[in-house]
Amino acid sequence: MVWLWLLVLIVAIYWIVPELALHYLHLGLIASPRVAEDYIALTFDDGPGAATQEVLKVLERHGAKGTFFLVGSEAATHRDLAAGIARAGHEIASHGKVHRSAWLLGPWATMRQLRDGKRMVADASGQEPKLMRPPWGHMNLLLPFAANAQRETVALWSYDPGDWRPAQDPGKLADRIVAHLRPGQVYLLHDAGGDGRLHTAKALEIALPQIREKGYQAVTLSELLSHEERLSFGRRVLQAVWGVWELGFERINRIERIGDVRSVLRIGRVTYRGLPATLKDGRMVKEGDVVGELHFRNPQLAALGAIRSLPLFERAMRELAVLIQESPRYRDLEVFFGISVAFRGVRRFGFEVKELGFTPWRRFVTGTYLRWVMTVYHPQGLDRLHHRRDQLEPKGIFITRETILARYGVGAAPEHSGPGTEEE
Ligand SMILES: [Zn+2]
Repeated sequence: MVWLWLLVLIVAIYWIVPELALHYLHLGLIASPRVAEDYIALTFDDGPGAATQEVLKVLERHGAKGTFFLVGSEAATHRDLAAGIARAGHEIASHGKVHRSAWLLGPWATMRQLRDGKRMVADASGQEPKLMRPPWGHMNLLLPFAANAQRETVALWSYDPGDWRPAQDPGKLADRIVAHLRPGQVYLLHDAGGDGRLHTAKALEIALPQIREKGYQAVTLSELLSHEERLSFGRRVLQAVWGVWELGFERINRIERIGDVRSVLRIGRVTYRGLPATLKDGRMVKEGDVVGELHFRNPQLAALGAIRSLPLFERAMRELAVLIQESPRYRDLEVFFGISVAFRGVRRFGFEVKELGFTPWRRFVTGTYLRWVMTVYHPQGLDRLHHRRDQLEPKGIFITRETILARYGVGAAPEHSGPGTEEE
């Protein structure tokens, strides 16, 4: 009986706990890096093999870079393919010496699997792997230590489109890849094994132009990681709590998010309370008028900084133009209004900036709120605030329905935001 319990304990410590902690909870390894910019990583496991050449050609044609997790024994058999991947400027990584689950490996076999895998892959390709992905993502207790000893980082993936299933339809596979685009996405793909995986190369031929069109760039996993936002645990908790609060705020005030996961704009319907403002076209906005209230989604904008957030902002304005024409909730509104501390950048998007004329108390509350939001989300947090406190004075920004539709409505010429007219 004692032996049985001992056995259960050993299994739990050696296999189950590492599997849960690493494979499922991603503690201490790479799986879904926090990247604000539009970079993604295409990773290819199990090669070099039957589809490697085709995959290389497709990547080359579309100017994309990939990361190849090579199996040591396969690299030793197909040395020219392994070297070709490295020569084409892709990243070489290790998938172990042989394609075997870590669940089947004892401590010494695990050490050998990583050590020999790295050596064989480096030897065949001429490039030293810095990343390691265990077959199927399976873990055991020794694996993270073995990786550490080899100076390799264990890297999993954040999305698996399932190209490992036999006889995939390339079109559907491509659809899944495109549908799951988001900044920092790490795709699990294969260039060998199974029935040859030629469908993967065909799917990429379809997907890569769409990926490019949506503004994403496929880079190596190491490059993707160099763009990773490293947030402290405290800041992550703060952001999570804040996210819940914001969601509640949106529900209560019936604020809608505009567009998809990357949208930077939210909209509500409110009664205007502030100084009367006269807009360029002569229109007056005064207390008691019903206006559309725009809220900028701070996580995205703050993390991106001014330059890189412009295309996102512009897209959000196009989505806004569609919404205010289609949704009965906003169809009667003539003026859209927001409170912003980033008002310097918004003039180029057709906004007019006005003093809010808030009472000192309201100015203090609003200013503190907006500063706090920036503190929560900006990567440099408080440091940034100390430098820029003077520039964080909140102002009112206004835009009319006409301007939105003229600049961003269907048929409006694409707005390539040049330098804005800074009146101050
Ligand atoms: Zn594999």
